[in-house]
Amino acid sequence: MAYKYVDNYREKGARKKLVQELKAKGISDAKVLEAIGKVKRHYFFDETFWAQAYLDKAFPIGEGQTISNPYTVAYQSELLHIQRGDKVLEIGTGCGYQTCVLLELGAQVFTIERQEKLYQRTSQVLPHLGYKANFFLGDGSKGIAEYAPYDKIIVTAGAPMVPQILLKQLKVGGILVIPVGDEKAQKMVTVIRVGENDFDKIVLDTFRFVPLLGDQAW
Ligand code: SAM
Repeated sequence: MAYKYVDNYREKGARKKLVQELKAKGISDAKVLEAIGKVKRHYFFDETFWAQAYLDKAFPIGEGQTISNPYTVAYQSELLHIQRGDKVLEIGTGCGYQTCVLLELGAQVFTIERQEKLYQRTSQVLPHLGYKANFFLGDGSKGIAEYAPYDKIIVTAGAPMVPQILLKQLKVGGILVIPVGDEKAQKMVTVIRVGENDFDKIVLDTFRFVPLLGDQAW
């Protein structure tokens, strides 16, 4: 690793402040706030930028991609209503920050990334930090049928529509959370599989994500 993983009083204090900020912005799930309070976001930044790690901002992670801002990570996590042991498919591993939050919530995570360099880096760094997930390289817009069905599916990139193939990989009672829109803005969409062929869709707030690229995407 290029720098040491140290968590000193500055980072601990900044993390606590971030949790308070997210609470003030409307995140109310105590388990999600606790998870955000545990994941050391500065470990996903070069040491030069540690002072920025606990700002509620997205940040470049290389390959033209970003680490999502903490509010967005908390917002999507809250919508998933993670129960301990839930089998979760995450589409868009990126640097793995959201993956760690899901793991802290007790999920069993299957995460897929299409950028090979990010996949390589994240699948090495997370186990080093003590986070065990199942990492895949490929086009997550098609899901991962081999390990379906999932209790929850989270998409961390903006899609032009809800890929039907992902709905088929949800358990009955399962929840999909996906940002849907154009390249400028997306609405957060939650789809709950209420029956074998029945889905309830809820359209929520506006966000701006990098695009979901692939077969069932842009
Ligand atoms: N979840 C990350 C975090 O914790 O900060 C941020 C993810 S970033 C906003 C979105 C990621 O989705 C990028 O790394 C991008 O390469 C990836 N991506 C885009 N299209 C994809 C696809 N079809 N399959 C898998 N990953 C994809």
